[in-house]
Amino acid sequence: ANFKDAGLHPAMLRNVELAGYEVPTPIQRYCLPAIFLGHDVIGIAQTGSGKTGAYLIPILSKLMGKAKKLAAPRPNPATFQEGVDQPMRAEPLVVVVVPTRELAVQIFNEARKFCYRTMLRPCVVYGGGAARDQEQQLQKGCDVLIATPGRLVHFMEKPQVLTLRRVRYMVIDEADELLDDDWKEQLDKIMSGGEQEEGNLNYMLFSATFPKAARELAKTHLAETHVRLR
Ligand code: AMP
Repeated sequence: ANFKDAGLHPAMLRNVELAGYEVPTPIQRYCLPAIFLGHDVIGIAQTGSGKTGAYLIPILSKLMGKAKKLAAPRPNPATFQEGVDQPMRAEPLVVVVVPTRELAVQIFNEARKFCYRTMLRPCVVYGGGAARDQEQQLQKGCDVLIATPGRLVHFMEKPQVLTLRRVRYMVIDEADELLDDDWKEQLDKIMSGGEQEEGNLNYMLFSATFPKAARELAKTHLAETHVRLR
């Protein structure tokens, strides 16, 4: 198995090669075809397994083919001028929810590599960062949003800044860390914040362990469970 035969969008194949990836890791070998087929996915995987690529590569590859059609109207971030261009609400197609700021930044950096020279623009928001700066980033346009739950809910409550109504892929990464009682309410809000009339929303759940709370979350939100890897 090799990325060349995985049916990736040419821009994604180029970016995977630029990232120096040659062969898919085991979790990537399972997830790529499952996500390409449109399945919801549960991945039991540790950090270091290549799980970020396991969902970002197929999701972003699929979107690259349709970015023109799907992306919300928005200013050109390259030429955006503060106070001149009209800020717009972010309408991401992908939301990745993670428990920590460090992980959010790490995934954002992976997403940046994969989105390089494509129509897709990634953004990251997390607690502890300046909300005003993050808001400005969102309002320049955002297709792929990496977020910690508290800050995500904060922006969801500002409909002029962010709406999840166009989200096609919602990824909960390190789900076991997010299923503490502290996060539960916010996670429920986020999981149902992406519900849309057309029902074309895929959920992906990645977790190092698979405790009862994670199984319940999966049962409530995931249509099919396809990938399990130890
Ligand atoms: P992750 O488990 O997603 O945190 O990834 C762990 C590290 O492996 C990251 O630095 C990735 O950039 C790298 N990585 C992921 N997939 C591959 C691959 N197929 N080939 C080489 N490196 C990879």
